[in-house]
Amino acid sequence: MGALWHGFADMGAVEREGAFVVARGDGAYIWDRDDNRYLDATGGLWFTNVGHGRREIADAVAAQLSTLAHYSNFGDLTAPVTQELAQRLSEIAPVPGSKILFTSGGSDSVDTAAKLVRRYWQELGRPEKTLLIGRRLAYHGMHVAGTALGGIPVNREGYGELMPDARTVEWNEAEALRALIEAVGANRIAAFFCEPIIGAGGVYLPPEGYLTEVRRLCREHDILFVADEVVTGFGRIGGSWFASTRFGLEPDLMTTAKGLTSGYLPMGAVFAAPRVAEPFFAGGVWFRHGYTYGGHAGAAAAAMANLDILEREHLLDASKNLESLLHEHFSPLSAHPRVAEVRSGLGAVAAVQLADPTEGPAMVKALRAQGVSGRAAGQGALQISPSFVITEQQVADMAASFERALG
Ligand code: PLP
Repeated sequence: MGALWHGFADMGAVEREGAFVVARGDGAYIWDRDDNRYLDATGGLWFTNVGHGRREIADAVAAQLSTLAHYSNFGDLTAPVTQELAQRLSEIAPVPGSKILFTSGGSDSVDTAAKLVRRYWQELGRPEKTLLIGRRLAYHGMHVAGTALGGIPVNREGYGELMPDARTVEWNEAEALRALIEAVGANRIAAFFCEPIIGAGGVYLPPEGYLTEVRRLCREHDILFVADEVVTGFGRIGGSWFASTRFGLEPDLMTTAKGLTSGYLPMGAVFAAPRVAEPFFAGGVWFRHGYTYGGHAGAAAAAMANLDILEREHLLDASKNLESLLHEHFSPLSAHPRVAEVRSGLGAVAAVQLADPTEGPAMVKALRAQGVSGRAAGQGALQISPSFVITEQQVADMAASFERALG
């Protein structure tokens, strides 16, 4: 019996059956402790955008850590690499001139945004605007506000009321948002939180026109629009840095993590559009919030090296190419009797939805037996979110392994 308590796990089952121990990675492959090789279908937890085993990132981190690991990002303190990274992110932001608040991961980013939207309205003399709206099936991390905003009921069970003034609307109907605004009044609503693609909830692509319409509704009713791009950011959507750029969403706040460092070190960032940042930059106002490791110098060095690779190797184009490749190779699986549907065709993400969601764990094991490391998200949705360096041959091999595992 090990001492480790895994996240999101039935620990009794892990103790009975043993852990799947991943020992190393290279490109789109990982190896277990016994040196068996697997295609990494999920890119870790959606984050290895540049692939595993990048020496360049490890070297950049080593150089930074031996110069200065970290100091502080509070008050007037920071480090050169943290300033450079913020500048670089501001330049690729969906809203020009955005300010960057660094965090240690996606849940930090979401809870930072949840606090910041309320503080923003306070600052503008509208303290009654406290209500936060999320969507059914949404996943916004596991801190308190993010858990309350999430739309996967089992993730909220057992904690009592986590946050007052959190509401959920249907994930795919702009009309549901409009109806809630009408029912409670826009004067009560601080922000709407929106994953451009529902990720952990099961990989659901936005219906045509949905994102544009909810963005329009928020603008019309003076509700802040928060794009949660923890999964979709840094190229996952294909062809652009962010889904918000591709869909012209101009989010008031954007939460990110994962692909910012491709998971080489934990780091997240909240992008605040000038409208939201301005009251806090005018002088005499504090946002009393921050994390010890926000803007960590070593993590910032990892992010800089990661962005270098994404640019130099044109990996946003590779991700766009994967959009059609994944669709081409995986959509035929929708004919399989065990499969309800295949969701694909937007970004380097797809899902094979099992007809019987309870078969998820067994399918993950069957995939491993076929040399693929996978995961069942949502209700039996086999997640596909590989690194952007995966080749067409590897995509074809992965789809063939899925087919054999289904058989
Ligand atoms: N937001 C979204 C959309 C996510 O998918 C996740 C994690 O999967 C998070 C927030 C939380 O990120 P983290 O696990 O880094 O705290």
